[in-house]
Amino acid sequence: MFKVGLIGLGVMGKPMAANLLRAGFPLTVFHPVRERCESLEIMGAAVAETPEQLARTNDAVITILPETVTVEQVLFGEKGVAAGLKPTCAVIDMSTISPTATVEFARRLEAVGCQMLDAPVTGGRKGAVEGTLGIMVGGRHEVFAKYLPILQATGKTITYTGPIGNGQKTKLVNQLVGATNLLAAVEGLRLMRAAGLDPETTLNAVSSGAASSWMLVNLGPLILQGDFDPGFSIRLQFKDLTLLRDWIAELGGEYPASSLVYSVFQEAMKKGLEKQGNQGLINVWPSP
Ligand code: NAD
Repeated sequence: MFKVGLIGLGVMGKPMAANLLRAGFPLTVFHPVRERCESLEIMGAAVAETPEQLARTNDAVITILPETVTVEQVLFGEKGVAAGLKPTCAVIDMSTISPTATVEFARRLEAVGCQMLDAPVTGGRKGAVEGTLGIMVGGRHEVFAKYLPILQATGKTITYTGPIGNGQKTKLVNQLVGATNLLAAVEGLRLMRAAGLDPETTLNAVSSGAASSWMLVNLGPLILQGDFDPGFSIRLQFKDLTLLRDWIAELGGEYPASSLVYSVFQEAMKKGLEKQGNQGLINVWPSP
């Protein structure tokens, strides 16, 4: 069984680490604040003092960190993962970060004889806790096949998408479609309210036809209840839409929906809504 290291014990990483332990993988974790490791230590995880030390003793290192710069720092900074990697070890980055930077990170890891998979996830905190995440994986197919059992311990729908970076690109396509559906759902509910339509009747009617979406079905009821607690926060959604904007700028071409959702989420950030769940997008506008 692979010895696995995991760095990034947040909303997603902590339950994913617990699922790896439950699946029987010997696990080592690292967090700059050691106390954050305690609950996993009680479950049987070892705790490393630095990312470098964590890499020395494991066959695969998972990172599930907030942003591109955090992943770069943990991999290549002082006492970083790259300093401790054995040539047979792989890095599996499950964060949502820049596809371009991902390709560059893989190149730098290959220079020290190590392989990388990019494996961003969907499904939020619930998916991480229940081990039902969707995982979009890029990298060499033989590396994907070798480390698949690790991914299967954290996710359910695991899709191989092609070369390194394709996982992140697929995730950004996912974020474009999801955010556009969310904006449509929010605007529909605002129009419903302005017209004085019955909320439940309208939501039921629209959710059961061709205009339905995951966003409308799952976040529509939360909006009607005034529940803006974060599953996936406006801050993270805006971070992903910024990655999308930068990637599209490199690719070229016209993607008007991506510009629209970027500007609306930028407005939500300006209005101080960053800690709300992304259904809080409706609070950009005053209630009728
Ligand atoms: P989070 O902010 O809850 O957790 C990140 C963790 O990384 C924190 O514990 C933080 O202390 C730790 N960290 C930061 N810098 C570190 C460093 N230098 N060394 C070690 N640890 C460090 O974030 P999250 O919600 O768990 O998201 C992680 C990634 O997963 C992000 O890229 C996010 O976009 C993606 N994601 C999140 C969700 C979600 O619903 N939260 C869903 C899909 C994808």
